[in-house]
Amino acid sequence: MSVSKNIISFKKELPANVRLVAVSKTKPVSVLFEAYQAGQLIFGENKVQELCDKYEQLPKDIEWHFIGHLQRNKVKFIAPFVTLIHGVDSLRLLEKINEEAQKNNRLIDCLLQVHIAKEDTKFGFDETELIDLLNDSDYHKLENIRICGLMGMATYTDDNDLISREFKSLADLFNKVKSDCFFDKSHFTELSMGMSGDYQIAVEQGATLVRIGSSLFGTR
Ligand SMILES: *Cc1c(COP(=O)(O)O)cnc(C)c1O
Repeated sequence: MSVSKNIISFKKELPANVRLVAVSKTKPVSVLFEAYQAGQLIFGENKVQELCDKYEQLPKDIEWHFIGHLQRNKVKFIAPFVTLIHGVDSLRLLEKINEEAQKNNRLIDCLLQVHIAKEDTKFGFDETELIDLLNDSDYHKLENIRICGLMGMATYTDDNDLISREFKSLADLFNKVKSDCFFDKSHFTELSMGMSGDYQIAVEQGATLVRIGSSLFGTR
């Protein structure tokens, strides 16, 4: 499979308001560089060490997105350069990101992860927790982070109706908090949902960021 051809055809297929996050976890830097040369500037990684190693080796105009579960003690390693953290799932983590952003004299953009799948996963807010966080005065004190939207993962299933309902529930929640909660919404514009197997459904339901790995780079 040709990585550059895949990049080009994905960009052609996606609507103009949807950005492609090339999920390059486990792939060597030579493969990322091939994608970069085909015009891909946004890469997603889910391991801190791997992200830092690749950042060191690749061109500096790349936007690095962290898409995994982030541990508080590792925030410091990515804080100097990360562009967007997709999976923030607690106020404590948000506070840590704020602290490290401050040390680096930066603003770090974050998405809050919402638990939308039927299957049990440990990560993400439910609706009430999300609303409570956004209305919470502790969060309003954080001056070095920006909440730029929501992120979610659908159930891993062949049932497209279920996937569609789950993505719709995230889009509905996005609209609801945007209209009802009291927080700075000037940057609240992104919905990160959809992977190789379900991105078309995610785009139908309003995704603005799709996180695509295996369809671009092959199986891991
Ligand atoms: C690995 C991963 C992806 C990409 O998955 P593919 O099925 O390979 O497209 C997207 N999002 C997250 C959070 C991931 O960990």
